[in-house]
Amino acid sequence: SEDVIKTDMVIIGAGPVGLFAVFEAGLLGLKCHLVDNLDKIGGQCAELYPEKPIFDIPAIPRCTGQELVDGLMEQCKPFEPVFHLNQQAESIERLDDGSWRLVTSEGTVLEAPAIVVAAGAGSFVPRRIPLPGAETYENSSLFYAVRKMEQFRGKHILVAGGGDSALDWVLSLQPLAASMTLVHRRDDFRAAPDSVEKMRRLVAEGQMRLVIGQITALAGRDAQLESVDIKTAAGGQEEVDCDTLLAFYGLKMELGPIASWGLNLDRNLIEVETEAFETNVPGIFAIGDICTYPGKLKLILSGFHEAALMCQKAFKLCRPDEKLVFRYTTSSTDLQKKLGVI
Ligand code: FAD
Repeated sequence: SEDVIKTDMVIIGAGPVGLFAVFEAGLLGLKCHLVDNLDKIGGQCAELYPEKPIFDIPAIPRCTGQELVDGLMEQCKPFEPVFHLNQQAESIERLDDGSWRLVTSEGTVLEAPAIVVAAGAGSFVPRRIPLPGAETYENSSLFYAVRKMEQFRGKHILVAGGGDSALDWVLSLQPLAASMTLVHRRDDFRAAPDSVEKMRRLVAEGQMRLVIGQITALAGRDAQLESVDIKTAAGGQEEVDCDTLLAFYGLKMELGPIASWGLNLDRNLIEVETEAFETNVPGIFAIGDICTYPGKLKLILSGFHEAALMCQKAFKLCRPDEKLVFRYTTSSTDLQKKLGVI
């Protein structure tokens, strides 16, 4: 079908190691598509420490997490990687010709001879409300992300959380909402001070409510939430009427669907050999933090090395009739043409 995307390599995870794999693959003439369930490129570097300096990238004495990601993006740009963000790699299936078909949570279908799992510590997924029955409301009146703001127009919204996501969505959705309440367990917020101040001003003007306490129960009918019980920090109990609950309790990492792909695992890491970082399933590779082998170090520089060796073997799968010639970027006009520098 025309909805199927065919490429050389599908990389699961757009972290630093997945990005460098695009570069190494590009030097060999291989095209890549990447899938990541974050809304941004850069994996842990971009999500967990964009402004913290890293000191052990070879020949870069100091750069922040985001600067590293920006540099990797610039380096792999000539090879035109295609990103499929906000979606999780869900299932894989081997096709008759030996290549793979991968389907994502958004229904994107990708086919390639080589699948590269560069999934770090797993997918970043939202921490869910740890209350019995919460899942019955999920995606109808309980949400862990906002995809379309219009969906929330005219709603009685309760936002839970004290970080940037919670505060940003309180401020963005308050003008659309019929009513807005923010609940956070402490009267102290991790979010940007400017956002906190704006929120407090809305509370002072009577345009929204702030409740300090913890959600203890959800009440509603079918999948429609009607109210939420809150145990207040002051020791009381409060029932807040709402038809929409948006919870922003941060992200955690979990291996997710990859765990059921038949790959040999060792404590949630994928076992590989160290010649090509191939798994026990031929054509499926694992590089970066997600892979394990004797002596493995969870460092970015190790992932870069793994990416380079993996591509040598992936080339043979993608171009079975071609011979791979070893070349330096400094002296090969072929590589320099691919890089667009001559
Ligand atoms: P990740 O960066 O974890 O990226 C993996 C990506 O895959 C994620 O975006 C995830 O959402 C995605 N993913 C996973 N499963 C799926 C799926 N099924 N579908 C779709 N997407 C999926 N290392 C150093 O070398 N030097 C340092 O100084 C250093 N400092 C650090 C400081 C902190 C605070 C932290 C947390 C880590 C630090 N690290 C450092 C470790 C470094 O960040 C990791 O080694 C590196 O990010 C691993 O890169 P990766 O590409 O393998 O995986």
